[in-house]
Amino acid sequence: MALLEILTYPNPLLKSKSEPVHDLDQETLKFIDDLCETMYASPGCVGVAAPQTGVLKRIIVVDASRNAKCELQHGKMILINPVIEWQQGDVMAREGCLSVPHFTGNVKRAKDIRFRAQTLDGKEIQMETSDFEARVILHEADHLDGLLFLDRVSSLKTDIFRRKRYL
Ligand SMILES: [Zn+2]
Repeated sequence: MALLEILTYPNPLLKSKSEPVHDLDQETLKFIDDLCETMYASPGCVGVAAPQTGVLKRIIVVDASRNAKCELQHGKMILINPVIEWQQGDVMAREGCLSVPHFTGNVKRAKDIRFRAQTLDGKEIQMETSDFEARVILHEADHLDGLLFLDRVSSLKTDIFRRKRYL
C-alpha cells in the first residue's frame, strides 16, 4: 500500500471527466487500496475520488463514520462507476476538499439521494442515503465529472471562506 499524492486546484486534471471502469484488474485493485489508505491518512477526511490523485477513473471511496456528528451512514464504501439516480431537497452546508486545502465553501446539495454503483466484487448495488453522507457522495461524484465545490457555490465573494483551522 502507498499514500497517493493529492492534486490541488488549479491542476487541470481536476477539471477532467473520468472514464468508466470496465475491468477490476490487479492494478486497479491495488490503486483502490492506496486510495483508501490515502483517505484514512488524512485526518477527518471522509472521501476521496480517483481523479484527485491524477487517475481519471470513475472510483470514489467514502467513510462518513469519520465525522462523529454523522448519524446515518454506511461506514467505508468503495463505489465504482457511481451514478446518482435520484435526489431531492436542498440543504446548504459548509464543505471542504483535500484538493482545495485553504478554503471551505457553502454549497447547496440534495438532502436525500439514491445511487447505484459497482462494488469491489463486481456486484451492482443500489442504495439510498441522506444528509451528511449524501453530501459526501455527491461531492465525490462531482470530482468524476471535473467539478469542485468551488463550481457549486453561488457566490465566490460571499460563500468561500479561508480556513482558520485544519482538522
Ligand atoms: Zn473534494
